[in-house]
Amino acid sequence: MGIKINTHYQEVKESYLFAEIAKRIRIWQESHPEKADKLIRMGIGDVTRPLPKEVVKALKEASDEMGVAESFHGYGPEQGYDFLREKIQEYYKSFPVDLAKEEIFISDGAKSDLGNILDLFDRGITALVTDPVYPVYVDTNIMQGNKLLYARAGEENGFLPMPDPSVKADLIYLCSPNNPTGAVYDRTGLTAWVNYAKEKNAVILFDAAYECFVEGDLPHSIYEIPGAKNCAIEFCSFSKKAGFTGTRCGYTVVPDSLVFGGQSLRKMWLRRQTTKFNGVSYIVQKAAAAVFTEHGAKEIEENINYYKENAKMIMKTLDELGIYYTGGKNSPYVWMKCPNGLRSWDFFDKLLEEIYVVGTPGAGFGEAGEGYFRLTAFSTQEKTKEAMERLKILLAK
Ligand SMILES: *Cc1c(COP(=O)(O)O)cnc(C)c1O
Repeated sequence: MGIKINTHYQEVKESYLFAEIAKRIRIWQESHPEKADKLIRMGIGDVTRPLPKEVVKALKEASDEMGVAESFHGYGPEQGYDFLREKIQEYYKSFPVDLAKEEIFISDGAKSDLGNILDLFDRGITALVTDPVYPVYVDTNIMQGNKLLYARAGEENGFLPMPDPSVKADLIYLCSPNNPTGAVYDRTGLTAWVNYAKEKNAVILFDAAYECFVEGDLPHSIYEIPGAKNCAIEFCSFSKKAGFTGTRCGYTVVPDSLVFGGQSLRKMWLRRQTTKFNGVSYIVQKAAAAVFTEHGAKEIEENINYYKENAKMIMKTLDELGIYYTGGKNSPYVWMKCPNGLRSWDFFDKLLEEIYVVGTPGAGFGEAGEGYFRLTAFSTQEKTKEAMERLKILLAK
């Protein structure tokens, strides 16, 4: 008998979605080499606009500082530098949400912390996720041996499931604006979830990775909802906002008022981070701080508007075709119903074969995603336009 391993890893399903998409594209390219350059990818979940100039400037300046003894930085605070936490604190004031600096933790991205946060909770607890779902929530809980419950999203609820009082969960994952559906909760919706969490003594893990796409009066942060500071942890990221997918920086908010089992979750998270994490690089944190400068914010707004124009083109096309969809408005994702009752993968094949356009089959995000399809606004304007023209011709037939 050797060492005992975590056998829950064997229960995690192979991440089949993007591998299968890549495989089908490869097969298509091999059998249609003459058409290969016509392929348009509308399935990517990665940004395409480069880093803002102001961010690049900060990266360069911080790199130069690191090469000079007087301004060199070694280990920084595990929770992040004050100069960045203060900028985030200021940004939340615009929602308006008041946070203490100590409640803000700088991370190397939302994905890491969404996984790491489970360190604070017992194994075997129950997590409630939506279906369709961002797969990270599911897999990280399976790895811990936690139980999973699903809240079904569908046309009947506009892909925004509401709490079911008969369901008891310990952790509740909410992602708004949502990946993959682009649906956004309003205040009423989030208030219902906050009230439910408080009643069940549960913790909401709120993924705000796409908050920068939110317009008008819709909430950017769960803390805009009264009582949320007693039941919610929020995760955010510079990835989609400022093109940091390859640069890596995000932040997690753990309010001081989160107390469970007599323990402050903020203090536990601080202990966890100071023990297992040595912070995000000074250079990257300087770059992230540049996101909040006047010039930086302006460049970012331009980039987000660029993606939003793409989303508008997609929505306009679907409106003209009379196809049901969610998202596109406060989100880079458009979640469309497959026409003629097609299944997600059949519609994927049809688009690839007939108009050389690639999207993401909704079925890959959960059972309730069957019959739906995700298009993203992260492509170029030219390619989005071309793809939508082809789609119009194909489906207007
Ligand atoms: C892109 C994305 C994130 C951000 O992840 P990072 O690790 O910060 O790049 C988080 N949640 C969702 C749902 C996402 O789509």
